[in-house]
Amino acid sequence: MKTKTKTLKLVNRRNLSPRTHAAVPLRERRLHFGNKWDYAPAPEESKNYVIAPRHELFMGGRFVPPKSGKYFPSINPATEQTLTEMALADAADVGAAVQAARRAYDRVWRRMPGRERGKYLFRIARLIQEKARELAVLETVDGGKPIKESRDFDVPAAAAHFFYHAGWADKLKYAFPGRTPRPLGVAGQIIPWNFPLLMAAWKIAPALACGNTVVLKPAETTSLTAMRLAQIFQEAELPDGVVNIVTGAGETGAALVNHPGIDKLAFTGSTEVGKKIARAVAGTPKRLTLELGGKAANILFEDAPIDQAIEGVITGIYFNQGHVCCAGSRLFVQEGIYSTVIKKLRDRIQTLRVGNPLDKNTDIGAINSKPQLEKIRELVQSGVDEGAELTQSSCSLPAKGYWFAPSFLTGVTHAHRVASEEIFGPVLSVMTFRTPDEAVARANNTPYGLSAGVWTDKGSKIFRIVNQLRAGVVWANTYNKFDPTSPFGGYKESGFGREGGLQGLAAYCRVS
Ligand code: NAP
Ligand code: MG
Repeated sequence: MKTKTKTLKLVNRRNLSPRTHAAVPLRERRLHFGNKWDYAPAPEESKNYVIAPRHELFMGGRFVPPKSGKYFPSINPATEQTLTEMALADAADVGAAVQAARRAYDRVWRRMPGRERGKYLFRIARLIQEKARELAVLETVDGGKPIKESRDFDVPAAAAHFFYHAGWADKLKYAFPGRTPRPLGVAGQIIPWNFPLLMAAWKIAPALACGNTVVLKPAETTSLTAMRLAQIFQEAELPDGVVNIVTGAGETGAALVNHPGIDKLAFTGSTEVGKKIARAVAGTPKRLTLELGGKAANILFEDAPIDQAIEGVITGIYFNQGHVCCAGSRLFVQEGIYSTVIKKLRDRIQTLRVGNPLDKNTDIGAINSKPQLEKIRELVQSGVDEGAELTQSSCSLPAKGYWFAPSFLTGVTHAHRVASEEIFGPVLSVMTFRTPDEAVARANNTPYGLSAGVWTDKGSKIFRIVNQLRAGVVWANTYNKFDPTSPFGGYKESGFGREGGLQGLAAYCRVS
């Protein structure tokens, strides 16, 4: 049987006689469909999951219509079809959510022993695991990211954050030996659209573990999985009001920022909005953590294992269509290997599969929204106008939806906008360097400081360079690796405060 299958793989389906064809298992027949070099189509079944036509706000443990009476559409960026409509929370709705969170804090959550809080977090983590397939499909249709990423990264990592923090809930005194950690109160949390479920988990899990209650504001274009998470909270019988979710646009976020009933504000998003929030919160007793933009440098030395490094560079920039705050969007290549690297990059982007995000073979999905696509196009055009050379994959893009082919720019100088501004799309800017000191100086020459990568065969070089880079996370001979036990956060205009690990817990406790 083994030999037969092997032989069949080499022939095109059209060459099989009807008898032979019937004898071949369906899975094998699919392999031979159409062009033999194409993968078989393998889309996930989105129709197995019902998306309600309307989503209300989640507060006090119930789904309630917005006082504003307004709703806004949530679309699938790969098809431009409307998936559902979301309630638009105004300041009065935000006020009601904060009130519900305060009540839950005073009456239930702050008084509950850590070991009991931990049980709820464990239950939520298990429910996320149980519903992993559904959550992955919802994340993909709502945000445009490939199913293999939402299925293999976003959803498992979201569950892992609840598991990790469930473990801490009754051990906080060991996290801060000799000191007494107490919760802060009501936490307002605002998240972006690039990792909607994961960002919600990053924020909610540590807040709850430390005894705080939450009002969460997801991003306008990707609120669907947050609302599914609200149903999970109900299923886990999380006490009413411990987590409240208000959907809406920037004004909803601003209403949360300015609400006097918030004790802590945690924001992940752009540096521009982060600065506005910092100004609004200055002079108030609110605690603040900001996780903002980035313009990471990936430094590739001549002694690095080149093929492994190219894969890391590809993951670093094209993962989630480059909608990643820590994307390795500036590649610094040591001069001696520049032409080899460019040739390999050119070949490799041709093999990336762009298209239907629900197809498990897809590498690059849809750009999250039309404005984001326009921003990417405008910045890339500015690079070309300023003299950089654009290399793009020649893949064909679907007619409907928002798409950008994987690209890189060469001949980039520091003066170009593409070398300093965050593109937040599948576009890499490639530059060269001669010495390690030059690489460090150029990598640090940015207002951001979220992440960086170093590729070299020499351990000593890694330690030297890592200590000189002004970035919150530095990966060595790998890229985009995350774990709930590792603190994540930035320097300079990438924000302050850490999420994950002990440092992430400290951001939700008053320690005396
Ligand atoms: P954004 O425009 O700053 O939005 C982030 C969130 O803030 C969204 O929920 C947004 O609502 C809300 N918002 C907008 N204006 C607001 C205001 N005036 N007051 C309060 N909230 C407001 O960022 P984005 O475009 O969604 O996300 C991309 C950015 O996030 C990138 O810069 C990326 O680097 C950064 N990011 C950073 C990290 C990190 O950990 N450092 C992680 C992920 C992303 P609407 O969606 O309705 O506008
Ligand atoms: Mg959407």
